[in-house]
Amino acid sequence: MEPDDARSHFFRLGLAGYPLEHSFSPAIHLCALEAANLKGEYRLYPVPPFPSGVSSLAELLDRVKTGELSGLNVTIPHKQAVLPLLDRLEPAAQRIGAVNLVYRQDGCLVGDNTDAAGFLVDIHRFMAAQNISRGRALVLGAGGAARAIAVALVDDGWQVTIAARRVNQALELAQCLRPDYLETIPLNAGSVIDLKDVRLIVNATPVGMAPHEEGIPWPSEAPLPASAAVYDLVYNPAETRLVQAARRAGLPAVGGLGMLVEQAALSFERWTGRQAPRPAVRRAVGLA
Ligand code: NAP
Repeated sequence: MEPDDARSHFFRLGLAGYPLEHSFSPAIHLCALEAANLKGEYRLYPVPPFPSGVSSLAELLDRVKTGELSGLNVTIPHKQAVLPLLDRLEPAAQRIGAVNLVYRQDGCLVGDNTDAAGFLVDIHRFMAAQNISRGRALVLGAGGAARAIAVALVDDGWQVTIAARRVNQALELAQCLRPDYLETIPLNAGSVIDLKDVRLIVNATPVGMAPHEEGIPWPSEAPLPASAAVYDLVYNPAETRLVQAARRAGLPAVGGLGMLVEQAALSFERWTGRQAPRPAVRRAVGLA
C-alpha cells in the first residue's frame, strides 16, 4: 500500500493461534498504529490446533483474501499447518518452512516469515553491545522458531548445532535445511557438557515461559560454557531463569523481546507500507 493510501485506510489486523491470552502482539501493533498516525485494530483470533481448527483458520484466510482483513500474524500451533492453505510463499517462508505473516497481493494469499529477519536484527544489536563475535552457536529446540533461527544463523556465518530432546526432530530439521552445515545432538547434560567452544546459546524452546517461569532448558548438571552468550527467545518473563543463570555466571544474556518487536515491525511494514515506529514500540514494551 502506498503511504498516502495508508492514512485513510482502517487496518484490520490480527493474530491466529492458540492459546493467545498472554500475547504481547495487540499492545505492540496498537502502539505502532497510533505512533504512525494510522487507524486500525489488532484482534486475537483463537484457532484451536488442527484438525478442529482447520475451518476457522481457512475462514480467517478467506477474509484476508477478500480484503476484509488487511493482514494476519500466525503463531503456535499453525505456523507450519497454514502452508498448504496459502497461494504463494515468500522465499524466507519457503526456506524456513513456516509462516508467521499473511497478506494479500494481486488477489493471492501470500505467506512470509519475519522471525528470522527479526532475530538477526536483534542478535546483531546484542553482539555489538556485548562485543560478541561469530563462531559456534547452539540452538536449543527444533520446532518452528528453531527452524527460523537455524536459517538465520547459518546465513549469518555461524556454525550451528541443534540440541533437541527428540534428536530425530533435530535431524529432520537439519536435513530439510542445510544438512552440510547443521550438527545435531540430544539435549541432555552428557552431550552439552563438552561444547567449550560455543559462543552463543539460543533457547528456542518454550521452557521458562510464563506461567511456568521456574523452567530452565539448560541441563542442571552442566555448567554453561564460559565462552558463551545467551539469547532466550522467551520474552515473558523479561528475565527468564536461563537469562538469570547466565548473568550469575558472568555471561552476556538477553531475552526475546527485541526480536518480538522487530518481527512485528517487519509485519507492520508489509501490511501498511509505512516504516514501523520502532522507538515508540520499544519504549512501550520496556526496552531502551
Ligand atoms: P514449537 O514449534 O512448539 O517448538 C518448541 C520446541 O521446544 C520443540 O523442539 C519442543 O520439543 C521443544 N520443547 C518443548 N518443551 C521442551 C522441554 N520441556 N524440554 C526440551 N525441549 C522442549 O514452538 P516455537 O514456535 O518453536 O516457539 C518456541 C518458543 O519461542 C516459544 O516460547 C515462543 O514464544 C518463542 N518465540 C519467540 C519469538 C520472539 O519473537 N521472541 C518468536 C517465535 C517464537 P517437542 O517437540 O519434543 O515438544
